[in-house]
Amino acid sequence: MNGTQYTITPVSVGTLNIDKPQFVWGQGWGTEVKAPVLMFYVEGGGKRIMIDTGCAEPEWGTKYHKSLVRTPEQEPARALAAIGVNPAEIDIVVATHLHWDHCYNHELFTNARFLVQRRELQYAAAPPPIFANVYEAPITGMTPAYSKTKFEVLDGEYDLAEGLKLVFAPGHAPGMQCPLINTAKGLYYIAGDNVPLYENLEGNKFGRPIPGMIFENLSLYYETLRNMERMADHVLPGHDFKVLDQARYG
Ligand SMILES: [Zn+2]
Repeated sequence: MNGTQYTITPVSVGTLNIDKPQFVWGQGWGTEVKAPVLMFYVEGGGKRIMIDTGCAEPEWGTKYHKSLVRTPEQEPARALAAIGVNPAEIDIVVATHLHWDHCYNHELFTNARFLVQRRELQYAAAPPPIFANVYEAPITGMTPAYSKTKFEVLDGEYDLAEGLKLVFAPGHAPGMQCPLINTAKGLYYIAGDNVPLYENLEGNKFGRPIPGMIFENLSLYYETLRNMERMADHVLPGHDFKVLDQARYG
């Protein structure tokens, strides 16, 4: 991809405790890892874009999901202000998928277009029972955080802007979409929960990368990971603290 170059700024809005094998297939049974809840601010070509919008409040998250800690500085509006971003000035919000830790706080982005894949929106409304909770699906008695969001619904790959493409990437969720972003340092791919940790990319003796343990179709998941490796110069994982070691990418 040529043309417009973007920068990518990761923002953490909380810390979750996650069972390790959930992130890296079958590895680390009985151990928990701490994981940041990440959203990504992308800027370039006069556009301001958010990739995912974070999770619920810590009380809610801890009660219905996993142990969630949020410092005052990680409150989403404050975390964005700290990097000089006013959510009302965001043009576009991309939902990589609709799990509860990625699609809260839409009300902050009062002037944005919201983009989601049709497959994900449909799946989230009535997922298999074991995934009802992570989607806060109606069957749980909860109301999904995005219930008032006026989404633009996409069917597969989408050219969002010059140098910025949304790749249809079924894996961790069947309607995942992952941004492929042109930067001064090459093409960055925000993998989201398809690649929770850098460790997933290392693989094992039979191959790489290693998927996580949440998915609908493992063959499609591997296909997505292979496409990712073919397209991207750099991959940013969805829940790794090391992503925050660098303030800005590109
Ligand atoms: Zn997820």
